[in-house]
Amino acid sequence: MTEVNWIENQDGSLWLKEDDRGNLQIHYRLKEILYSEQSPFQHVSIVDTADFGRTLVLDGVVQTTAIDGHIYNEMITHVPIHLHPNPKKVLIIGGGDCGAARELTKYERIEQIDMVEIDELVVKACKTYLPEVSGNLSDPRVRFVFDDGVKFVKEKEQVYDCIIVDSSDPVGPAEVLFEYDFYASLKRALKDDGMMVCQSQSPIFHPSILKQTATHIRSLFRYAKTYTAVVPTYPGGLWSFTIGSKKYPIDPSSARKETVTTKYFNRGILESCFVLPEFMNELLNK
Ligand code: SAM
Repeated sequence: MTEVNWIENQDGSLWLKEDDRGNLQIHYRLKEILYSEQSPFQHVSIVDTADFGRTLVLDGVVQTTAIDGHIYNEMITHVPIHLHPNPKKVLIIGGGDCGAARELTKYERIEQIDMVEIDELVVKACKTYLPEVSGNLSDPRVRFVFDDGVKFVKEKEQVYDCIIVDSSDPVGPAEVLFEYDFYASLKRALKDDGMMVCQSQSPIFHPSILKQTATHIRSLFRYAKTYTAVVPTYPGGLWSFTIGSKKYPIDPSSARKETVTTKYFNRGILESCFVLPEFMNELLNK
């Protein structure tokens, strides 16, 4: 388990030092540490940063922030929800900051949102200290289950229209959320016309994880596609997501037209996010 790295500069300023695989460090100037606890799974903290406002940090790694968290949370939810013709039952695996659940509550057509998060402390901390991201958690359609997503999904068959894997990086408790067997369980837990999406990491810094994730999903689902968004606090900014669909082609131009209030996502982004730069086409298709 990684230690959280707060560092104090000679001028007395406090910094969070995020370390990506021992190869890259990103430093955030801190105004205040609001919450810092060890859970049975990871170190959980909420800090107030100079540029990104309140920020959730797990094992020293930034997960979501008040300033750019909406980009990731909108893109992991609105893209699959627009592409599925009639999503009613949605499962989120992970997603402890509750930003994805919050985006889903914007759709009246969704009847049930199950959220399976391994670490209750993440939800408690975000509810108290990160309302900018966690938003309206009193919506009765949101049902929290505090359990391992792998175990939960294994016991389900043909239940969900959409499954959103909103996981942390593939280290610690989230490592299993990037494995072939887990995606195979997701496929079983989806209805015959279901869709799943997961965050598939940085195409620049973690190309092998993206390649492996996309390969698993392509081998299991009839249709699979990768899309991107720019999330400034994730290493490299450019971030990838991969969708698998059992029945419907992943065709943004024929996606349902629906009005939803967002800060990043819109129709043009939906249609363009599947256009990949050449280095990604080469990585995914060679
Ligand atoms: N948006 C963030 C990102 O990409 O960095 C991640 C969102 S959310 C904070 C990720 C959540 O996944 C964490 O709260 C973590 O506790 C949860 N998680 C990790 N492994 C899990 C597992 N096996 N089952 C369920 N939840 C898990």
